[in-house]
Amino acid sequence: MRLRALLAAVFLLVTCVSCGSGQVSKDDPLPTRARDGDHLTIGVRFDVPGLSQRTLDGRLAGFDVDVATYIAHELGVDADRITWHETTPAHRETDLASGAVDLVVATYSITDKRKQQVSFAGPYFVTGQDLLVRLTSPDITGPESLNGRRLCSVPGTTSAQMVKDKFAQAVQLVEYPRYTDCVTALLANQVDAVTTDAVILAGYAAQNPELLRVAGRPFSTERYGVGLRKGDTEGQRAVDDAIRKMVSSGAWAKSLAANIGPSNYPLPKPPEITEQ
Ligand code: GLU
Repeated sequence: MRLRALLAAVFLLVTCVSCGSGQVSKDDPLPTRARDGDHLTIGVRFDVPGLSQRTLDGRLAGFDVDVATYIAHELGVDADRITWHETTPAHRETDLASGAVDLVVATYSITDKRKQQVSFAGPYFVTGQDLLVRLTSPDITGPESLNGRRLCSVPGTTSAQMVKDKFAQAVQLVEYPRYTDCVTALLANQVDAVTTDAVILAGYAAQNPELLRVAGRPFSTERYGVGLRKGDTEGQRAVDDAIRKMVSSGAWAKSLAANIGPSNYPLPKPPEITEQ
């Protein structure tokens, strides 16, 4: 009899690991995960000044962090219930698919290729690919002046892909895991330029204004979306609504001015939301 009671207790314990309040499955839509779990894990970058970077006291700060925090709040999750997870460009899709993160807000360009693996909400910001060069290289004005030179980018980005697709014949592509490594290599004369989105490069140029400049001739359109697990249309709608509210309340423009303004990057108008 006692054995039967024990077995029943064990059975209840095992079956209820995934039931009851606070328990959510990775395949639940984002709003359900936020509501029932009262917690979100958000994939962000740790190496993008103005967008998402660690401060000296260990916090994360920037426009992407503000967008993510706003979305979480709209989904009912307070800032102290967010876990920030560093996601690198090559891992954004796998971090979403595996359930390592609930959403990605990480300078993540919406592309058709990525849409085969993830869903996007947004866009919430639009920029374009550009070059960061030393002030001592006035002759580098755009990708066509990079013939025979070394260009640094990060694997898994649209920027590195563009170089492979369009400029690989003439340019030597060097890849490092983070932009901070590319910028260090640029300052040490180990590469001749760094390429990624202009808004990211502006942040690095602002950290080294006496040494670096952005070429200033963007050669792609990068629409930043919020990455969600593929097929989460309920999540897409909820995140789109949150972005709309961030724009209409003025919080979007305020965060942009505070975080991106100091780099002198020209602040754009909010883009039209197209992913739904
Ligand atoms: N936005 C581009 C991308 O999604 C490049 C910048 C980056 O995220 O590293 O690949």
